[in-house]
Amino acid sequence: MPNYIEARFNTAQPTFSEGEERRLAALSRIAHSLSSALDLDDALIQMLDAAIELTNAGRGFLVLLEEDAASWSLRAARNNDQVTLPAQDLEPYRTVIADALSGDASRLIADAGSDLRSSESEPAVRPAPGAIMVAPLLVGSRKIGAILMDSRLPEAPFTQSELELLKICAAQTALKIENDRLQQAVQNASLAKSRFVSIVSHELRVPMTSIKGYADLLRQGVVGSLTAQQTEFVDIIRNNVERMSILVSDLADINRIETGRLFLETAPIALADQVEDILTSLQSKFAEKQHWFTTDIPADLPVINTDPLRLMQVLTNLINNACKYTPAGGEIQILAVDQGDGVRIEVVDNGIGISSEDQARLFTQFFRSDDSVVREEPGWGLGLSVSKLLIELMGGELGFSSTLGSGSTFWFRLPYEPKPAVDDA
Ligand code: ADP
Repeated sequence: MPNYIEARFNTAQPTFSEGEERRLAALSRIAHSLSSALDLDDALIQMLDAAIELTNAGRGFLVLLEEDAASWSLRAARNNDQVTLPAQDLEPYRTVIADALSGDASRLIADAGSDLRSSESEPAVRPAPGAIMVAPLLVGSRKIGAILMDSRLPEAPFTQSELELLKICAAQTALKIENDRLQQAVQNASLAKSRFVSIVSHELRVPMTSIKGYADLLRQGVVGSLTAQQTEFVDIIRNNVERMSILVSDLADINRIETGRLFLETAPIALADQVEDILTSLQSKFAEKQHWFTTDIPADLPVINTDPLRLMQVLTNLINNACKYTPAGGEIQILAVDQGDGVRIEVVDNGIGISSEDQARLFTQFFRSDDSVVREEPGWGLGLSVSKLLIELMGGELGFSSTLGSGSTFWFRLPYEPKPAVDDA
């Protein structure tokens, strides 16, 4: 009876010949340099060196098609001593490269000397070519360049398996180059977006302040008393400018945080006082909806060191939400607990709650529930994202729990002291 266990768990290492081991090592070096080198040029040079070794080549050239796909340029050229070569060394192979870039197939040319239909210009240093092989760099069916290898000695032709290895290198290299291009495109788009947001938010602030100022003057009757309808219209103007300014400042905050340009101004904070200030400033809103408010903030709660204005912004946003999304007569509680290494603050409401489907999208920018109560309230769906980013910037965390129809608890915890910035150096 066969020894089943032994057969299944035979852990004996496969044995490789010296040549196979060398190839595996070169392949793994290629995969490693293409996945880990931060700079694309470094990655391509490392790949070319390893590919030259892998295929027993004398020299390797990597060319890339330009954006217009009509012309191409040399991106890396190395020999088997890992020396960078001048561009003119590629001259005799221009036609082979052009052929490789116009067709899809990789090619192995055993006697390049007789096959080369080189350019008319005789290069200063013309190699005595033996064999060459060329593989296009393909992203799907789109060509983005090619790798060409020539043999170390005229009498040492390449084998079919070396061409197969070159194709593997070409496939991995094409992926790396394409990923790099996509990353660059994403970075450029994100840079353009942040420039746009900072210019627009800066340019909008001045006219919005002016509209607000003049609306206030009208409301105060500075240019004569207003009729009831005029007062109503001016209030609408004022409220809408207020909404716009919240949107602009939320967008500017997100932009600053994402680009690392939001700096906190830390100071010791007595939390109870801060909550008191917010409740006073929101008094008229609570009165409107006749919410029942309770706070439970221990008098001996330790002082925390964080940015008071930013903390105020987060708390105001959470309390404001509790207010907006809790029907009239509902209950809102603000609780604080000392957790030994930081403070946890909770804003609890018994409002409309959030469905589990909506919960999954809650911190996505511009997300607002389709619930009619939500849609009747003003908002842009940015407050929670900004709050979460701010709390994380302060070294804390922000979360929630909610049951549809029963209410929600939004909480955050902050350490007593902000975490020191990590030094990458
Ligand atoms: P906004 O309130 O301006 O819509 P937020 O980012 O503050 O933006 O909130 C996003 C969405 O999360 C809200 O539109 C609402 O659907 C939901 N939400 C936030 N807080 C609550 C809450 N306390 N109760 C129920 N839903 C809430």
